[in-house]
Amino acid sequence: MDCLFCKITEGSIPSQKVYENERILVFKDIQPAAPVHVLIIPKKHIASMNEVEEQDLPLIAEMHHVAQQVAKELGVAESGYRLINNCGPDSGQAVQHIHYHLIGGAKLGALTG
Ligand code: 5GP
Ligand code: ZN
Repeated sequence: MDCLFCKITEGSIPSQKVYENERILVFKDIQPAAPVHVLIIPKKHIASMNEVEEQDLPLIAEMHHVAQQVAKELGVAESGYRLINNCGPDSGQAVQHIHYHLIGGAKLGALTG
């Protein structure tokens, strides 16, 4: 499958890994929007939030749990952070493999449309 994040999962495209288990990978965003900017992805290919099925719900829950752990490890749990999922064209989703951005390490601007 021609999917950038599947290639990162398989290791054919390198990434700066922050956390990994059998189901989930966390790596640094190549174009960080803040001092802390990592991407949390499932190793299973799911194109977007729209394609999440009931059987995937434990995986999605685990991504939130991993976000909590990684935020602690990266030192932003107390200062605060944002967990963002872009889904579909209006959101600007560029990579069609579901991911959360975990962004922090600085005062973040207000969300706008
Ligand atoms: P989206 O716009 O789909 O929510 O976010 C995709 C993110 O993937 C962007 O923040 C972009 O900087 C990041 N990205 C794109 N290509 C690569 C890559 O090859 N490696 C890494 N680490 N991040 C990437
Ligand atoms: Zn994929």
